Amino acid sequence: MASRCWRWWGWSAWPRTRPPPAGSTPNFHHHLSTQEKTLQICVVGSGPAGFYTAQHLLKQHPQAHVDIYEKQPVPFGLVRFGVAPDHPEVKNVINTFTQTAHSGRCAFWGNVEVGRDVTVPELREAYHAVVLSYGAEDHRALEIPGEELPGVCSARAFVGWYNGLPENRELEPDLSGDTAVILGQGNVALDVARILLTPPEHLERTDITKAALGVLRQSRVKTVWLVGRRGPLQVAFTIKELREMIQLPGARPILDPADFLGLQDKIKEVPRPRKRLTELLLRTATEKPEPEEAARRASASRAWGLRFFRSPQQVLPSPDGRRAAGVRLAVTRLEGVGEATRAVPTGDMEDLPCGLVLSSVGYKSRPVDPSVPFDSKLGVIPNVEGRVMDVPGLYCSGWVKRGPTGVIATTMTDSFLTGQMLLQDLKAGLLPSGPRPGYAAIQALLSGRGVRPVSFSDWEKLDAEEVARGQGTGKPREKLVDPQEMLRLLGH
Ligand code: FAD
Repeated sequence: MASRCWRWWGWSAWPRTRPPPAGSTPNFHHHLSTQEKTLQICVVGSGPAGFYTAQHLLKQHPQAHVDIYEKQPVPFGLVRFGVAPDHPEVKNVINTFTQTAHSGRCAFWGNVEVGRDVTVPELREAYHAVVLSYGAEDHRALEIPGEELPGVCSARAFVGWYNGLPENRELEPDLSGDTAVILGQGNVALDVARILLTPPEHLERTDITKAALGVLRQSRVKTVWLVGRRGPLQVAFTIKELREMIQLPGARPILDPADFLGLQDKIKEVPRPRKRLTELLLRTATEKPEPEEAARRASASRAWGLRFFRSPQQVLPSPDGRRAAGVRLAVTRLEGVGEATRAVPTGDMEDLPCGLVLSSVGYKSRPVDPSVPFDSKLGVIPNVEGRVMDVPGLYCSGWVKRGPTGVIATTMTDSFLTGQMLLQDLKAGLLPSGPRPGYAAIQALLSGRGVRPVSFSDWEKLDAEEVARGQGTGKPREKLVDPQEMLRLLGH
């Protein structure tokens, strides 16, 4: 019933700048201003999920006001801290997010960590609905001996380091060995391999951090192995990223034709995108390249290879035990068919020497607040189409909702869906009635706790500073990597 959804927040709302006076009573005969009818929504996280959820709600509900809380002083989540620096076109979504942030009905509050600076129950009290869109910030551990040795790090941390994620800015990976092993065969693994092998001069005009570029310039890494437990039919990367890798300047692919035996017949049955991807792998592994390409590969000083049917058992220490010197791999074979194909050990082992081990076996969400249900096995918030199980008025979108897979476009679709569910619930009268104070109440809490939020216009000042710092060296920006410096620049 349409009329219901207009009734429930139909009386005086609190001013946005002050918390409600204690004991005040609403005036039912009071003229309803737009502000008084405001639907107050809170979104936690300013990555694609947060921004696309906000966009949907603002578009579909003329009285919605959305506050986006973000723990970093800067917005955009993995678009800034995950997407590779040599893929600037992917970051164009920032323009759409910026448009959303410029809406008079949207506000960004950075430097606010939900679960630490403010709790989810406090947010639920202040807003009609809360959407958790805080992504998947942990990496999955390998859970093998030696994982803690120096020389082993997560692909997540490595990506954070070259992209200027504050918590990883001091990582300084050791690139003095000639071989790096990446455990995993997804797009993140390919991103990391590509950054390790790209001639540094090709990265000079990207937004990679100055510190990372300096370390990559000194890198001695010549060979990168990407290790997978299963075979060519099960790789998790996509064709565009593979093609880019095959054509990487100064690098040649190493694929063992034996891994592809019998595959020609099997690919007839697989879905088209997988078929095209496998055909490209197969051609690269088994066909003689054109003379020009053959010459390019012969002169390449760097190489990358896919090591299939290998499951990591242990990170091997150097003779003095101080750092990683290799990985022990169990040889596997496949059992089962289709998606259920499993790798089982054959009993054979193989040692792969290397100076750097990067684990790229997936991301995982963290629980944000004890009041929010969390499935620690799957690493997601249990939900039905974005409605958090058993908690009315609480929603989720993006990687924390469906797990850490899928590209920005997937995240967009799923965030729109969560927005749709929220508005359906509103229409059905399932959200709290009466006005909610929104940011006014949270601002009071934060200021009492000494937290100084960073607004979107503050971010635009930081953005301008980054762009200005990049100009001298021909980079689109030189990212600020120290939150203290950011806050100082803002006079906080
Ligand atoms: P995120 O982007 O992670 O956003 C979550 C936000 O929540 C972050 O800003 C985080 O700081 C914030 N947050 C976390 N905890 C809190 C808290 N307690 N309080 C407040 N805020 C919090 N997709 C593509 O389409 N193209 C690509 O090239 C591409 N490259 C990728 C490269 C890497 C290395 C990775 C990991 C992913 C890549 N993706 C790419 C996928 C894409 O980044 C994701 O689909 C998308 O970012 C998921 O969006 P999200 O909003 O759920 O999570």
